[in-house]
Amino acid sequence: MEAHGTEAHPTPPGGPRRPAPSPRGLLRRGAGLGAAAFGLTAADTASAAGPASPAGRVGAATTYPTTHWIPASTANYTVSSRPTSYPIDFVIVHITQETFQDAMRIFQDPARKVSSHYMVASADGYIGQFVREKDIAWHAGNWNYNTRSIGIEHEGWVDRPEYFTDAMYRASARLTAAICTRYRIPRTRTRIIGHSEVPGATHTDPGPLWDWNRYMSLVNSY
Ligand SMILES: [Zn+2]
Repeated sequence: MEAHGTEAHPTPPGGPRRPAPSPRGLLRRGAGLGAAAFGLTAADTASAAGPASPAGRVGAATTYPTTHWIPASTANYTVSSRPTSYPIDFVIVHITQETFQDAMRIFQDPARKVSSHYMVASADGYIGQFVREKDIAWHAGNWNYNTRSIGIEHEGWVDRPEYFTDAMYRASARLTAAICTRYRIPRTRTRIIGHSEVPGATHTDPGPLWDWNRYMSLVNSY
């Protein structure tokens, strides 16, 4: 993502799903609230993924992580009917440069003209889904790649390694693995790419601190 919002870290009261405080409590509290803090936790969104079995491969459910449907403004993506309208060939990895909450608000703001299919919270791997996979999220800065990809944002900043948690890597890798299974995308670095690797990209995310070896190893383990 490219927008640079405020540094606000709202701290509403926690709910029953909150993990116990840890030494990294402040970060985890700020990051781990995810959408739950806003009462937006929806039911499991297997249905929100759109055509869950484009090739009759519903079997991905065994590894598919729990996601939470938090719709983006309809002004921030293009309705489509993928993979019929366009093939889904890529997964594109982003870092938000925002908190989860701020990025969520950006996706819900019709003036921002940006969105992502998914966003993974740093502290606990909570996954919000903002755009259905059949639709075209606006995240790659390249229309051709937008039409052919699923965008996954990760909460954090490219130069703040404390946000690159094991929970976030694992949740994201499970999600990417499930997407690759659904659309038969090879689990390789030519198909699972960073925003910075999109042709014409002016963005640097996910940046040099993103551990691709670790990520790809996890993706291939699920
Ligand atoms: Zn990006």
